[in-house]
Amino acid sequence: MTALRLTEPHVERAQRLEREFQAVLDAAVDAVVLFDHDGRIELLNHAGERMFGYNEEDVIGLKVNILLPEPYRSQHDDYLRHYIDAGEPRIIGTGRELSAKRRDGSEFSAEFAVGRVKGTEPPRFAGFIRDITVRRNAEEALRRSEAQLTIAQEIANLGNYVVHFDGRYEDYWSPHLYRVLGRRYGETYIGVYDYLEPMVHAADLAHWHQARAELDAGARTMDIEYRIVHPDGSLRYVHHIAQTTRRPDGYALRQVGTLHDITDRRRAEDEARQMQDRITHFGRISTMGEMAAGIAHEVNQPLTAIATYAQACQRLIGAGNYTQDGIATALEQISAQALRAGEVIRRLRTFVKNREVRRELVEVNKVLEDVLTLAQTDARHNGVRITLEMSPLQPQVQADMVQIQQVILNLLRNSIDAMLNVPEGRREILVRTLVDDEGDVEFMVADRGTGVDATTMAELFNPFFTTKPGGTGLGLSISRSIIRAHGGKLWCSSNPGGGARFFFTLPAAPASAGNP
Ligand code: ADP
Repeated sequence: MTALRLTEPHVERAQRLEREFQAVLDAAVDAVVLFDHDGRIELLNHAGERMFGYNEEDVIGLKVNILLPEPYRSQHDDYLRHYIDAGEPRIIGTGRELSAKRRDGSEFSAEFAVGRVKGTEPPRFAGFIRDITVRRNAEEALRRSEAQLTIAQEIANLGNYVVHFDGRYEDYWSPHLYRVLGRRYGETYIGVYDYLEPMVHAADLAHWHQARAELDAGARTMDIEYRIVHPDGSLRYVHHIAQTTRRPDGYALRQVGTLHDITDRRRAEDEARQMQDRITHFGRISTMGEMAAGIAHEVNQPLTAIATYAQACQRLIGAGNYTQDGIATALEQISAQALRAGEVIRRLRTFVKNREVRRELVEVNKVLEDVLTLAQTDARHNGVRITLEMSPLQPQVQADMVQIQQVILNLLRNSIDAMLNVPEGRREILVRTLVDDEGDVEFMVADRGTGVDATTMAELFNPFFTTKPGGTGLGLSISRSIIRAHGGKLWCSSNPGGGARFFFTLPAAPASAGNP
């Protein structure tokens, strides 16, 4: 009776525990497998059935290593024996990541934890298996995208960094940032700005400090280009963009930035610019060559006048028949003519000199007047009249004076060439400047020459296109690139009265530039 009273609740409790254990097993997300000291399966829960594609009754009594692919499958018996013989915990523990094998032979990544069921002899074991395919895939995708990002950064020669001001996370340097800044990957951490500062080229340092100060003072973005000197002494150009993320109260949380090594691009640009300068210079020399006859004439005139006045003085003095005033007047003329010749030569020299491109505020009408002294002689020499219509507004532009003169001379030279075969009475060029609706300055050179037919019109601005026996075909293409570099346009249209009209525009100088 007593025994029955005592055992009844035990049985009930055992049954209740059994039911609860079953419920836990059924509800578990992980696969649970129980097996004996021989590795024979005694139980596989629902999650295990789903995970491996077996029914529990199919696997009871089979070796637990059917759940593993080779080489783990063959090793498993050894592991189990080792454990039992020597208490060596090779399979016991948590968090071992292995491959698992489904009934259909497919494999998946799984995390295994195996424990011995307490107080069982011979020992029995409980295994927990978690399918980590999703996590593994996510990790793999992350690893791949990181690898791709690193490759992309290598190709672009760009590195990035994150600075955390609140100290909650570690700052970040991307692997390629080390390379951009001339360090070896993994070298001890140092704040990116602390590292950069001594590297910034002395000439760019003030600019760099200012950009950083503006960013710290609340500017959202810093976007600058500057030079840095690598530890090995090499000079690199970088494009640096940084952004600050702030809390609504303005407190800076972090700064994210990229440093792009643009040295190769810069060098290529420099080379292209030098090449362009050389071509432009060559263009000027060849324009001058074409105008040589007219210019020689221009210099020759004052020289002849000087000689004539000098001879007259000699004659008067030789004959003893002179007044002091007469001689003084002749000497004044000599001096004036010498200055005139000198002036032509000075203009010529300025024009053909290989020089740095210099943008400055220039008066359009003044540029025209200067260039016309060079062109007039050539025009006169060829029986061409040049008429000027200058804007009364005295417009100003920010430009390289010599390059603009080069464009005008080119257009004038082409107009003169185009009129060589028309009757002298028609050989007229009109040069006009005006301020257009947008405030830009428009130049026009119009002639009454042969004009430009449709085929020529399509080719006009192509380098080396020429219809002249001794032409280079570079004048118009150089002119167009000069005007484009100044932010303007150059185009051609037919002159309604016959001949061609060439136009170009230059952006008006900003008002502030006009009142320094
Ligand atoms: P080049 O003068 O050495 O030929 P350009 O580039 O200055 O080189 O001119 C290219 C061509 O455009 C000329 O050969 C000519 O056929 C045509 N052209 C240029 N200006 C005029 C013009 N005002 N009238 C007619 N044709 C012109």
